[in-house]
Amino acid sequence: MIVFKFGGTSVGNPQSIGAVAEIIARHRSGADGGLVVVVSAMAGVTNGLIAAARAAAAGRSAECRDIKATLLRQHLDVVDELLGDCPEGLEACGQIEDALHELERLLRSIAVLGELTRRGLDVVAAFGERMSSGLLAAVLCRRGVRAQALSATGLIVTDARFGEAAPQAALTRERLRQAVPPLLGRGIVPVITGYIAATAEGVTTTLGRGGSDYTAAIIGAALAAAEVWIWTDVDGILTADPNLVPGARTLSELTYAEAAELAYFGADVLHPKAIRPLVADGIPLRILNTFNPAHPGTRIAPRPAPEREVLPALISTEGLAMIAVGTPDDSWTLQLAARALQHLSEAGVDVPMFSQSFSEHRLNLVVRGPDQAHALDVLERVFGGGAAGACVIGVRGEVATLSVVGPPGTDGTALTAKAFGALGRRGTPVLAVAQGTTGRSVSICVPEGQLATAVRDLHQELAVEVAHA
Ligand code: ADP
Ligand code: ASP
Ligand code: MG
Repeated sequence: MIVFKFGGTSVGNPQSIGAVAEIIARHRSGADGGLVVVVSAMAGVTNGLIAAARAAAAGRSAECRDIKATLLRQHLDVVDELLGDCPEGLEACGQIEDALHELERLLRSIAVLGELTRRGLDVVAAFGERMSSGLLAAVLCRRGVRAQALSATGLIVTDARFGEAAPQAALTRERLRQAVPPLLGRGIVPVITGYIAATAEGVTTTLGRGGSDYTAAIIGAALAAAEVWIWTDVDGILTADPNLVPGARTLSELTYAEAAELAYFGADVLHPKAIRPLVADGIPLRILNTFNPAHPGTRIAPRPAPEREVLPALISTEGLAMIAVGTPDDSWTLQLAARALQHLSEAGVDVPMFSQSFSEHRLNLVVRGPDQAHALDVLERVFGGGAAGACVIGVRGEVATLSVVGPPGTDGTALTAKAFGALGRRGTPVLAVAQGTTGRSVSICVPEGQLATAVRDLHQELAVEVAHA
């Protein structure tokens, strides 16, 4: 049995969903023991849902209505283009409308309370995967592939750490083994929601942003899958984002440890928690391109071929913002730094990177662009009004992070020197830096406008460029 996971861009519009259905149809019979599919929300939907929940709590009802209308259109476009008036289309249409009515009621309750808890936010954020899994299953059925949408809230059992819940392995394995094999035995492809789960009592939780990769790994491990394949919009993990460096090369084979280092220091491509569940049983993980399915992609496995090429990689993430909180004098304390992080976490704001130097009186926090306004609100509420003396909060939008990750054995000092050398020659400002504990990776925050040049320069500096055909 193989687990396939399709990311947000792979199901971002009707054409992409068509490509996904084609891939599933092609592999379904070849996969010994069947195929289990895990799906993310359509691209941008989780961001939209989170924004709607925050707008509801702040009383911005027009914004909620606009987001709901956009979500309805985005999902109904899939029905219109791929399903039409057939029975599957009518049922899918009804399900989308029902889900969005339920969302509307939930948003109204949040507006009445004027407060959004992390628990409430998870219930709202879960709608994206609920809708995408139903749609994909309907599209598959329409194509003659027997498929059934399943919500992971009934399958993956977690603790109650909303927004970053941890799975309980034994209960999860039991539920998955009860629910999934009977479907596979009847030739049905289960289409399971990524990212979302529930506590043993049935309260909805989420596994963290980008968590559908983690869902696929959890399911693969629980069901002893032969392999887990993560389908995305690039040819695997490359030496750099191919959208920025056309000559970037795919890392064809990686060990679990190498892949984990890449995932921990790069925010996207692969969720950092997606490796660990697979290690114990040595289940291989592949990263493949939905839009170029013939490409072999990246294979992560216990014993890669000894003659494989081992290269450094640059993992970049755009669309971020940097917020600096601090004091103009010596009154900044570690407790204030801890308070900032705690309040952001409680407000459901993901902080992919932060840094504070030894003597500096401020903390640099990198947040995702869509979280910028909310993070600022939270910090102003906590630190404004003289609560911490004269706290200063500054923000810089449109920043990006660039992580340079060397393979094991890399001279970390040389790697960092090269990175700063390449940035320095162009005069690219370094806004914040964080170093990995292995010494083989460094993450640097730069203005977004300078990211592409920085990545290209550094890629060349590391000498991994190939002639682009
Ligand atoms: P998905 O929606 O499938 O989960 P993500 O957006 O999370 O996909 O991750 C894939 C994206 O990661 C690519 O589109 C690419 O822009 C970005 N990326 C950044 N650096 C790299 C790299 N070195 N190799 C591959 N992808 C990269
Ligand atoms: N939809 C979720 C997110 O946007 C999970 C995922 O895409 O993996 O974070
Ligand atoms: Mg992802």
